[in-house]
Amino acid sequence: MEIVFLGTGGGRINLIKQIRGTGGFRIDSSSANIHVDPGPGALLSSLGYKEDPLGLDAIIVTHNHVDHFSDAMVMIEGMTNYGLKKRGIVIGSRTAMEGPDRSIHGYHQSKVDDAYSAVPGEKRTFKTEKGTFEIEIIGMKHEEETAFGFKLFLDGKVIGHITDTEPAEHLGKAFSGCDVLIINCMKPEADKYHGHLTTGDVIAVLKEARPAMCIITHMGLKMMKAGPAKEAEKIEKESGVKVLAAKDGLRFKV
Ligand SMILES: [Zn+2]
Repeated sequence: MEIVFLGTGGGRINLIKQIRGTGGFRIDSSSANIHVDPGPGALLSSLGYKEDPLGLDAIIVTHNHVDHFSDAMVMIEGMTNYGLKKRGIVIGSRTAMEGPDRSIHGYHQSKVDDAYSAVPGEKRTFKTEKGTFEIEIIGMKHEEETAFGFKLFLDGKVIGHITDTEPAEHLGKAFSGCDVLIINCMKPEADKYHGHLTTGDVIAVLKEARPAMCIITHMGLKMMKAGPAKEAEKIEKESGVKVLAAKDGLRFKV
């Protein structure tokens, strides 16, 4: 299995300046190819890194913020063979899937085999053309109230993802048992804007979750300035968990 980072930038300024990309990441495995949070540039970076949108089996949108969903419908057109064949799976936050502000329109939801509006606490199994995977939905504490993180069970491995969230007590326990835990670590330290995890918050989560490996991503400008590799080293030293700072184009073999 391989995790491919298509965009590792986070925050409002990076979103417009595109210092780092915002295309999310993709998990290529023998049971499913899954694109997580296809934000601005997801299509172009997929093509640039030779990750064929036609080869997708599932698309996950963790919450209804534009840096996480803007290319989702475009990627659905790819996953469904240019929109010509009903196939694939879309898993989105309730606000991304339902109601007037939904970012994934009914037309595009109708193009896939299975459109699932994620419910925290639920565990679901999905069948793809190549096999099956299971997802456990874990609630986040974010401005988009239906935002969710997840644990994916596929190819005998557990891949966890903590998306945008404030620090929350349940995270450490909820994300235990991961082979790889991908965490959106936007800032090196706390500032007046809350709603995202800092290096210190990630240390606290890892001390409890104890994954075999952690990869930090979705970095804001302050994180880039502080030096993501240096912050990763600090997290590793204090948590005792192996930590890698993602870069655009990073391919991580699980
Ligand atoms: Zn967000």
